Order: sequence, then structure tokens, then C-alpha cells
Amino acid sequence: MPLPSTPQPDLLVWRADRTSTYSVKSGYKVLLQGLASIYPSETVMPSTSIVGLYYRIWKANVPSKVRITVWRFVRNYIPTFGNLTVRGIAAHTACLLCDGSSETAFHLISTCVFSRRIFSALHITLPQVLLTSDWLPWLANFVNGLSVTHCRLLFLAIWAIWGHCNKVVHDHAAFDLPSFINFIKSYMNDMDTLPPIASSSVLSFEEKCAGDVLAAGCFSHHNVLDPFAAEALACYQALVLAHDLSYMRIVLEGDSLSVIKKVRHFFEDRSVIGMLIKDIKRKMGSFDSTTVLFCPRACNKPAHYIAHLGHSIPTPCIWIGNIPHQVDQLAIKDKWWTDPPNLSGINL
Ligand SMILES: [Zn+2]
Repeated sequence: MPLPSTPQPDLLVWRADRTSTYSVKSGYKVLLQGLASIYPSETVMPSTSIVGLYYRIWKANVPSKVRITVWRFVRNYIPTFGNLTVRGIAAHTACLLCDGSSETAFHLISTCVFSRRIFSALHITLPQVLLTSDWLPWLANFVNGLSVTHCRLLFLAIWAIWGHCNKVVHDHAAFDLPSFINFIKSYMNDMDTLPPIASSSVLSFEEKCAGDVLAAGCFSHHNVLDPFAAEALACYQALVLAHDLSYMRIVLEGDSLSVIKKVRHFFEDRSVIGMLIKDIKRKMGSFDSTTVLFCPRACNKPAHYIAHLGHSIPTPCIWIGNIPHQVDQLAIKDKWWTDPPNLSGINL
């Protein structure tokens, strides 16, 4: 667990609920899980194949939000129309993706025409579906037989399919197979080219300098559990660097929407990186003005370049004024997002 830079009072956190706050409902859910009543066929000692399924889910090299979504599918914790109808929340059960059967976790993974087209395009072959059999062993045998790459693709596809289900319901989104497949493949490609978690990078800008790089730094961290903690540490170090350089008006940019939201929100964050978020907010109070912005990964390339650079540098490294040439070049291109250049006569 990341530690704050200054001592903090103890905080009660209830891990069994997403909000980290105890509720009778979540406590009751924990009790139910203890009774293992959801899957009667899954006894207290689950079969080897089901243990293997959980192992592959939690060990998969995909973001935790993907792993959690897949796990929710497996446990039938997904609010599909089938589940919502059972609880009296929805009036119909039909799957909006294929206008066919009842929308259940089983349907979305195995029999939905929409999903099957996606799996087929990803070269994932679904085994024969036996409707009479318990679907959990079916899914376990299917996942356990996949290669590591196909397993990651399958998990990403399940996560993306569920995301699309929600977009169809709330935004009436249309489906375009090539774009969908492109999204999954580029997401996987992005994951494989992410900078190492052990390094984080900072860039400090001041408003009056209109995006010029004034200083940059990289620090190696150990025992950083996930990219969110690395991103929060990078934010904090950017603030420390800006403060040390006596800048008083700053714009803090990051490409992790989760971290940016946590920094911008007023409420107390109770997640694992909650103490780091507290550090960031306290540090922000030492400036005359701070603006916190989210920027897409595509326009944050200087930070990623420095993170890669930092991986080969064992000690913390800070550049003030004398910035690596490549970082300057990438920063110039970054400015194109908000200030497109006149391309005529410019050799790119
Ligand atoms: Zn369907």
C-alpha cells in the first residue's frame, strides 16, 4: 500500500463495497458469499478447472477494471437485463445487441450473435455450447484451453462487449465491427507498450510559457502495485518540482482519468491510493492557482518518453532548462492538439 509523505490519521475502510463505506447491504452480500449459495454446484472446494479459471482471470496481464468485469461475469454479478428482471428493475430481458435471447452473462459470452462475430474476428473459437450443462465448467474449460494472448483478447472483448451493451442502452450507440476489433487490438497494443510501472515521470509547465517544457524529471519506484499509484506519485512529484522551482500558477495534466477525477473531486478518496491523493491535494494548496486537466494518452507523449528514459536510470533525475531534445520535439507536437500549426512549407 502506498504510504503518504506525512503521517495521516487512521481511516476505517470497508473493502467489501466499491465505495469503501460499510453498508448493511454489502455486509449481507459478504455473508451470502460465505454461504456459497449463488452457485450450488460450486461446492466449498471448487473444481480444478474453476480454480484455473479464477487463476487466469486474476493473473491476466490486463487492467484491473477488465479483470474485475470478467470476474463479475463469472459470478453473475453483472446487471444484465436477465438479472435486473429477476429483481424487478427491468421490464424486459431481450438482448439489445442481437434482439434475440434473454440477456444474461451466459448469453453475452456464449450464444449472442453479436459476441460470436467479435470472437470470430479475434480468431477465438468458442467450443460447442451445451445449454443443459452448467455454464461455469464450460467457461472454465474454454478459458483454460486458450493461449495467454487469446485469453487476454477474450477478457478485453468481454469487457468491451459489456461497455458496448451500456452504450447501446444509454447512448443508442451503433455497432461497427472493424472499429470494435480495432479498439480491442489497439488497447492490447497500448498495454504492451506502456512504460514500466516502476518508473514515473513528471513534466512541469507554467501557464505563461504556453506549454514550453521548463523542467522534467523521472524517479524509480519500487513496490508500486498498479499504474494508478504510479500516476498519482508522478502527479505529486510534478507538484513538488513546480513548488521547488517557485512556480505559483500551474496546470496539472494526466492521462489517467481515474486519478484526475480523484484529484478534482472534493470528497475523501478511500481507495488504495487515497493517501497519495491527499498528499496531492495538500500540495496543491501551496500554489496561487491550480488547474487539473485530463489529456488523452496520445497527447501526453513527452511524459511517456521520460518514463521510458527513467527505466534505464536507477537514480532520480531532474532536468531544469536543459531538457532532452526529443522531449522538446514531442512537446511541440503536443501543442498541435490545441494550437495546430500552419503545415504549408514545414517538413515534418
Ligand atoms: Zn445477444
